[in-house]
Amino acid sequence: MKKIIFLCFVCMHISFSSEFKKGHLFIDSQTQNFLNRWVEKIYKVAKLSNPKVFVMIHPELNAFADPLGNIVIHSETIIQSESLEQLLGILCHEIGHIAGHHHVRLQNQMRSMAGPMAVATAIGALAAALSGRGDALAAGIAAGMTVSERSFLSYMQGEEKSADAAAVSYCKKLGIPLNGIIDFFKKIQSKTFASDPYLNTHPIVEDRIAFFNQTSFINNKISPTDSDEFQVIRAKLIGVLKDKDVSSLPKNMSSVKNFYRLYRLKKYQDILDQGKKLSHNDPYITEFLGDVSFKMGNIDQTLDFYSKARDKIKSVWLDLSYAHALSESKISKNYEKALNIVKVVVQKHPDLGLGWRIKARLHSLLSQQDELSLSMAEYGASISDYKLVQTHAKRATKSHNQRIRMRAEELLQDIKPK
Ligand SMILES: [Zn+2]
Repeated sequence: MKKIIFLCFVCMHISFSSEFKKGHLFIDSQTQNFLNRWVEKIYKVAKLSNPKVFVMIHPELNAFADPLGNIVIHSETIIQSESLEQLLGILCHEIGHIAGHHHVRLQNQMRSMAGPMAVATAIGALAAALSGRGDALAAGIAAGMTVSERSFLSYMQGEEKSADAAAVSYCKKLGIPLNGIIDFFKKIQSKTFASDPYLNTHPIVEDRIAFFNQTSFINNKISPTDSDEFQVIRAKLIGVLKDKDVSSLPKNMSSVKNFYRLYRLKKYQDILDQGKKLSHNDPYITEFLGDVSFKMGNIDQTLDFYSKARDKIKSVWLDLSYAHALSESKISKNYEKALNIVKVVVQKHPDLGLGWRIKARLHSLLSQQDELSLSMAEYGASISDYKLVQTHAKRATKSHNQRIRMRAEELLQDIKPK
C-alpha cells in the first residue's frame, strides 16, 4: 500500500492583521480598564450612570454615542490623538450627547422611520461585536452601520452645540485642558476627511475651535502616569494595526516601547522570550503572554500567566480568557472553577455574548444539558438572535429545575411580538 505522507508546516506566526478586522471590537484589558476609568469619571460629573464604552477597529476618524447610549471610539481616533487630553475632549463631547438625551431622540426616530427592526439591528451589531463572533460580527456591524450612518440619525446642530458646552463643563470639573479638543479639531481641519461622518454631522470646525478657545482655562489635572498609560494604549493599537516605524512614538517611555516591540514581533516564541523579561512589573504584559501561550496551544503555561495577571488586575476580558483556557484544559475540576468565574461575569454583564457562549461550553463539558440550553438561549437574547432563543429556551422549559424553567419562560415571553 502506498503511503501518503502529508507534510505539515506549522507556522508559529502571529497574523494580527487577520484577527484585528475592521468592525471588530478591540478586546484588550488594559485599554478597556483605562477607558472605563475615565468614562466613569466623566459620567460622574455628568450625573450619569452605567457607562459603556468600546473601541472598534476602524480606519476612519470617528467616535459616537450610538442610539442605545453606548460610546464607540474608532481605533483611528485613539491613534490620531497625540495626547490624552485630545481623546478625553472627544469623550466629553460624546457623553454630552448622552447627558442631553440626544441618543434617545435618535432611538425614537430610528424606531418610527425604520421600524423596530432597525433598533434590533443596531443592538445586534454591537452585541455581535461583544460576542466575538468572527465573520457574523463583521456583517452585523456593517448592517448596524448602514442604519446609524443614515442622515436621519445625525445629531442636530443645536445638539452639537449643547454637547460642546457640556464637554467644556466636564473638562473644567475634571481638569482636562481644552487645548486637547482644540488640537484635535485643528487636526481634522488640516486634513480632508471627506467620508468622515464626524465632520458631516458636526458644526463647522472653525466655529467650534473658536468656541473652545473662548472658554479655555488653565487647570491641568491629568497625571503623567495617565498620559503614559494612554501612550501605551496607542502603542498597542499602532503596533497591531499599522505598519509604522516606532520612531513616531515618544521615545522616553520604556513601557510604550516594550509593548510596541512585543506586538510587532513575528514569532510567538520570540514574544515569550522577550516578554518574560519585561513582565515582572507589568501585569498586562503577563496577560499578553497568556494570550500568546494560548495561541501556541500551551494551556498550562496559559493558565499560569493568566492567574498571575489576575492577582494584579481586574478585567472582564481577562476573566473570560482565563475561563476559556480552563475549559480547554481537559481537567474537569477546572470546568467548575471556570463556571464560577463566568457566572459572575454574565451576572454583571448579561449583554456580553461571549460570556454566555463560554458558559454554554462549560455546561456542555460538564454534561449539564438544561443549563446548556438556557445559556444558549441567553446567548441568543444577548445578540438579538430570536431563533436561537426560541430553539434553546423551549428545550429549557422542559427542565426539572424550576429556576431554569422560569427563566426560559421569561426569555420566550421577551421575544414575543408585542
Ligand atoms: Zn457630536
